[in-house]
Amino acid sequence: MSATRWVDVVVPVPVRTAFTYAWSLDCEPEPGLRVFVPFGRNRVLLGVVVTVCADAPEYSAKEVLRCVDEHPSFQRQQLAMWYWISEYYMCNPGDALNAAMPGFMQVEPDDESTYTLRDEGVWSLRFASPRHDSDAVNRAFTTLSRAKLQAEALLRYFQLALEAEPEDNRHPWVAVAALTAEDSDIKPAHLSALVERGILERELRPLDRSMDLGDSLLLPELSPSQAAALQELEAEKHEALPKVLWGATGSGKTEVYLHLAAHALEEGKHVLLMVPEIGLVPQLMQRAGRALGPDRVVPWHHQLADGERRALWEHLLDPDSAPRIVVATRSGIMLPWHRLGLIVVDEEHETSYKQQEPAPRYHARDVAVWLAQQKKIPIVLGSATPSVETWHNAAQGKYLRVDLSERYSGVAYPEVRSVSTLKAQALNQQIGPFTQEAFAALQQCLADKRQALVFQNRRGYAPVLTCTNCGWIEPCSDCDVSLTYHKNNRKLVCHYCGLHKDLPDTCPQCRQTAWDWRGLGTERIEEEVEALFPEARILRVDSDSTRSKRAMTDFLQWMESGEIDLVVGTQMVGKGLDLAGLALAIVTNADPMLSRPDFRAHERAFQLLLQVAGRTGRRDRRGLMLVQTATPGHPVLQRVADHDLPGMMELILSDRKEYHYPPFARMVRIELRHRREFVVRDVANYLAQQLLGALGGGILGPDAPPVARVQGLYRQHLWVKLPVGGSVKATKRRLLKEIDGLTFYPQGRSVRVVVDVDPIN
Ligand SMILES: [Zn+2]
Ligand SMILES: [Zn+2]
Repeated sequence: MSATRWVDVVVPVPVRTAFTYAWSLDCEPEPGLRVFVPFGRNRVLLGVVVTVCADAPEYSAKEVLRCVDEHPSFQRQQLAMWYWISEYYMCNPGDALNAAMPGFMQVEPDDESTYTLRDEGVWSLRFASPRHDSDAVNRAFTTLSRAKLQAEALLRYFQLALEAEPEDNRHPWVAVAALTAEDSDIKPAHLSALVERGILERELRPLDRSMDLGDSLLLPELSPSQAAALQELEAEKHEALPKVLWGATGSGKTEVYLHLAAHALEEGKHVLLMVPEIGLVPQLMQRAGRALGPDRVVPWHHQLADGERRALWEHLLDPDSAPRIVVATRSGIMLPWHRLGLIVVDEEHETSYKQQEPAPRYHARDVAVWLAQQKKIPIVLGSATPSVETWHNAAQGKYLRVDLSERYSGVAYPEVRSVSTLKAQALNQQIGPFTQEAFAALQQCLADKRQALVFQNRRGYAPVLTCTNCGWIEPCSDCDVSLTYHKNNRKLVCHYCGLHKDLPDTCPQCRQTAWDWRGLGTERIEEEVEALFPEARILRVDSDSTRSKRAMTDFLQWMESGEIDLVVGTQMVGKGLDLAGLALAIVTNADPMLSRPDFRAHERAFQLLLQVAGRTGRRDRRGLMLVQTATPGHPVLQRVADHDLPGMMELILSDRKEYHYPPFARMVRIELRHRREFVVRDVANYLAQQLLGALGGGILGPDAPPVARVQGLYRQHLWVKLPVGGSVKATKRRLLKEIDGLTFYPQGRSVRVVVDVDPIN
């Protein structure tokens, strides 16, 4: 048994730090190993070693029970990322561990087997100093003068190294197995000690692997503007800066990504291509596969089978594996990125890059920027409508913006017109959900055998079901919202908690049957459009209709083959489905998105409308987008019509600056939840007082969010504004201290506190 050592272990429980355990197992402790540790009275938890400590803790530490891995399952860089995430996003290291550990790594305590990499790679060692440094060998043996067994192990290495092939100026690799063969006295512990001293270095070496890409690359040819953008992105002058690739829909950002990826591949580096939605993974994989070879392109997302995930994880852990292009959703950032050469975050403005529930509430784009800077590798954030934060960073010189102005496809930006719904209502000229102008345009479009989109950003049939006799509205029993009626399955559904209910036969209040619907959802629009245009073939695209894995691919094929005349859709149309070439888009009602009580409302509305506009138009014909609204002169709509992103950004930034919102301040939202309203109010008020005392200002609230109760829990929000620039670590620590202090306040312990740094909604 080796002498006792100590290790810090992160465990998946809500505590702020790692725990120190004693290590007296036969194998050597190393950061990244999964271990079983006792926790509390009689729990056993699977944790990960983050540090090996030389000194004993001040308390008597419990023993690590068992080590699961033969070699670390996580790399040091991943462990560093967990710490950065837990510090920045004010969560527990265990939350980051939970997010990073895929299902196939979650073993049970009674599963006794040891986990070994399945790869055919061989763990090997070599003398760390270059060969020309001939004195290094002497120095090494001198330092080992009092460690006889380690000196013997090193000697054995040099004996075996004589038979191996050296590479240029380095000493050759020797397999660990050869050094610790039956007939030798060398123990793995001695070799690990030599690695720890920096005398030997250890790697998983391949048996044989070809890195040669040959001429298998079929890269798309670049237009002059794409080639210019590529050159700018790769220029040495701004090497250290994150890049923003700003290019309209159809400007051909993907081709530029593929060229960048090819250059990383040629250097033997992996590439991470991030997309905001799982539905976008197959399309990008297909395009990347065509250009770079299908075998080199691999997906990563939560719907992947365990076996596939494990295969990729092990491939990336292998230091000599052939380079891969990984097309991933946000969790791809958590992979063991040993030899990463490039990160691309496509559609960087998309909110789905931010994890909402559970913690860590991290923004994958921002973590990606951090990772790229740690690794000193290029990162490209691509978008047709960059987020205000990213735009501002570029304006400040923190990022480099590269413009891809010309539309690669040669398609012009569509004509955008606002149509007043007030006027139509006053003149009684509404035709179903449409103004006369929109109806006529739709009629014309279908007569011309062209495709149209009706955009309605609300799913279901009708948001409100009401009794015409007594005015009863069916609310959700657990949330402060009315239930949305879904006519397809005759259900009332809560869009906040997912509660499903059958439509009652009679009104619960007056026992009459006199239901009426108020408001419009996609189902109802679909029904009305069907009635208005009985000949048209209609497709509804929302999160209800696209739930199946294949739906998106099917939809796209139907669209391309012209089997669909008209699409009724929510924002899924812009996010998951890469539609293009429509002749007409009608936005049924822009007002809800323009008037949302959220400082990001205008930014979101602008992005969404520009995205919808980008779905229209072909090379030979300009598209048309009609926006129905009560406020046709709205500044956002004007800038959408003018396709004026810089103007929009300027307007939003000046507002944000005036009211001290991001990117001119950092926001932290503290949400408190409890079954009883007076409890959550009381605790929120107390916390606000404490925070005011601790920070001296910059606290907004507490107040109830627009939907105050969700899933039976009342909510209160407190907002903390932190200055940008300068370290806010100390402030964040004080915040956490005050939150943790709630334990001592009456009822404080029973209130759930959710901290969200840089919240996006
Ligand atoms: Zn009634
Ligand atoms: Zn509900």
